[in-house]
Amino acid sequence: MRLMFVGPPGAGKGTQAVRIAARYGIPHISTGDMLREEIKNGTPLGQQAKAYIEAGELVPDDVIIGMVKERISRPDARDGFLLDGFPRTREQAEALDKFTSLDVVININVPDDKLIHRICGRRVCRQCGATYHESMLENLKQCPKCGGELYVRDDDKEEIVRQRIAVYKEKTQPLIEYYTKKGLLEDVVGSGGIDDITEAIVAVLENRK
Ligand code: ADP
Ligand code: ZN
Repeated sequence: MRLMFVGPPGAGKGTQAVRIAARYGIPHISTGDMLREEIKNGTPLGQQAKAYIEAGELVPDDVIIGMVKERISRPDARDGFLLDGFPRTREQAEALDKFTSLDVVININVPDDKLIHRICGRRVCRQCGATYHESMLENLKQCPKCGGELYVRDDDKEEIVRQRIAVYKEKTQPLIEYYTKKGLLEDVVGSGGIDDITEAIVAVLENRK
């Protein structure tokens, strides 16, 4: 199954993507995670991407497209994958159409006021990449899954979050129409509990099989 998740920052795409990818045994391809890894490793790509990410802007299309194309060509993605955070612009969507096709696009909808609250309380594990909301944690410093150190992403500060939401509306939201026209779009309400949302996504996917 070739899946793509779309939705504003804070919609819970990453959380759901990890669960759905595990359930279907497909790789979770998150461009945000890939970029953060490049930054951590100090690669040329990471150096190029850093300033854009910290400003809440998109990394240039050619950089992202090359990175995803290489990732999708690896053997583990041959029978399917879950794209999380890509495509984010019309140019990226058109490029993707040239090297693969999608079976379904899940649009996770969450009201704006919830987005800011969710992102501003986000903690990420430095070791395993798991994400949490501070309200779910007993210990704000340590990952309950692996014991790794939890941190707040540099781009999760409120003013940067507002910028990311604005960029989403301008550049990424138009893709909803793009995929609706292709008959690929499925809406899932992303404001309930984490398990309920996972089940709603699974129900949609099973229905389309
Ligand atoms: P979120 O969905 O919560 O905004 P991500 O982890 O997906 O966070 O992305 C973080 C940042 O990485 C984005 O704000 C952007 O700067 C960059 N990025 C990720 N994916 C893309 C992409 N497909 N195109 C351009 N920039 C991207
Ligand atoms: Zn962890």
